[in-house]
Amino acid sequence: MPKQQNILIIGAGLCGSLLALRLGQRGYNVSVYEMRPDLRKVDISAGRSINLAFSVRGNKAMKLVGLEDQVKALCIPMHGRMIHDAHGNTFQSNYSGRTHEFINSISRGELNALLLDEAEKHENVNIHFNKKCKSIDFENTTALFKDYNTKDEFLEDADVIIATDGAGSALRKSYYLGKKFLFSFSQAYLTHGYKELSILPKDNGDFKIYKNALHIWPRGSFMLIALPNLDGSFTVTLFLSYDEGAYNFNNLTNDERVLEFFSKEFPDALAVMPNLLDDFFTNPTAPLGTIKCSPWHYKGNTLLMGDAAHAIVPFYGQGMNASFEDVVEFDAVLDENLSSWEATFKTYEKRRKKDTDAIADLAIDNFHEMKGHVNQAIFQEKRKLEMALEKQFPEDYASKYALVTFNEDIGYREAMLRGRAQDKAILNLLADKKIDINGDLKTILEQVKQETEAILEDDRIAGLNQ
Ligand SMILES: Cc1cc2nc3c(=O)[nH]c(=O)nc-3n(C[C@H](O)[C@H](O)[C@H](O)COP(=O)(O)OP(=O)(O)OC[C@H]3O[C@@H](n4cnc5c(N)ncnc54)[C@H](O)[C@@H]3O)c2cc1C
Repeated sequence: MPKQQNILIIGAGLCGSLLALRLGQRGYNVSVYEMRPDLRKVDISAGRSINLAFSVRGNKAMKLVGLEDQVKALCIPMHGRMIHDAHGNTFQSNYSGRTHEFINSISRGELNALLLDEAEKHENVNIHFNKKCKSIDFENTTALFKDYNTKDEFLEDADVIIATDGAGSALRKSYYLGKKFLFSFSQAYLTHGYKELSILPKDNGDFKIYKNALHIWPRGSFMLIALPNLDGSFTVTLFLSYDEGAYNFNNLTNDERVLEFFSKEFPDALAVMPNLLDDFFTNPTAPLGTIKCSPWHYKGNTLLMGDAAHAIVPFYGQGMNASFEDVVEFDAVLDENLSSWEATFKTYEKRRKKDTDAIADLAIDNFHEMKGHVNQAIFQEKRKLEMALEKQFPEDYASKYALVTFNEDIGYREAMLRGRAQDKAILNLLADKKIDINGDLKTILEQVKQETEAILEDDRIAGLNQ
């Protein structure tokens, strides 16, 4: 495929700006259209996942485009979960027994701005803001836009259109409404939504709670989490049902109820959130959902990528990482110089979709783990054991969390199959009292491996690993 080809990218979010940069580096003519204003000039972040957990799959993409060091400067390492119980007691549960394995808190805006800056350094990349895509004619490879400044509508033509326009993708909608081919699509909302709050820095700019952890206040059917920012603040997110339970988003409608809820459930958080009510009633409550669809492409004309193809709930901290990994996988297919865009898109989707389906399911698992299981004794025993195994046998053992989060060379699907079997194996062995935390770790490792293999074999026979 000649490099003079014009590629139109819709959406200059995290995935679109990275894709523009990479395709720019590869020499394509790239035009990007973004509906919002340029986030480097206007603050548009309020209440919309201000920071994110960034880990090795995302970093693999940063290495690909040569930005690893610049991104590292934006990162705050988080070595584990700092769990806050209802009395304000805390304990830290590390993400891994290997000290070099941790996740990072990063600002969405800063990261997006860096990617835009780098993409724009290539004269073959042009980014246009305030231009919303309304629909795409995927048969003729044209996109209809509305210019928010002039209010005019205009049509753009390209050799290839790639939509990285997030969970509400205009291309996905055009596929669905077009009814021209067998397009499958599913959208599943959680009964919970989220609202962003904040813990502001101390007057001297210091962090009010421990900086290098992802704080969680797990309460069974709902939870609060907090991730640090470079300015000393934390972005706090409340995940809560819209209409179930004694307290829910629909009935937290006045100051008294919100204060009552926080003083009962999160007293230590409330103590460092004097701005709670302002945040609560200013910031939006937003839904959380999983979107799966196929095919991602139409012939060799159009392709969905990032959240537009596979939006997931945020509980594994992998949505952005997966979207970045999309670009790495797509780049690897481009390296193969296949005969056409159609062959390229087809190969990419065939390799990638099983992994993005897997991380979607894992993210739902982790929703239940974070809001509830982390508080259960057997779960805590399992985590302690896994920490000990990872520490003592760093080459031989990786928990499900580590397989997903710290092993960029293992696909999400393989991580899910092995990780789930391992979880089941340890929980069974603990419940049956066949292992305990004070036992000989070498023997425990062998027992866990044997039990895991037996479960994987059963799953294979039952056809669950196909
Ligand atoms: C509460 C929350 C917490 C999260 N935490 C994490 C985390 O810790 N770690 C992690 O890895 N991921 C996390 N995610 C997921 C992550 O935000 C997404 O996976 C990631 O933003 C996907 O990037 P994207 O570029 O595909 O989509 P987006 O970031 O949504 O970008 C899409 C872009 O397209 C633009 N656009 C949309 N429609 C149009 C249109 N019609 N025309 C033109 N432009 C358009 C939008 O303005 C936007 O700039 C979280 C998500 C949420 C909601």
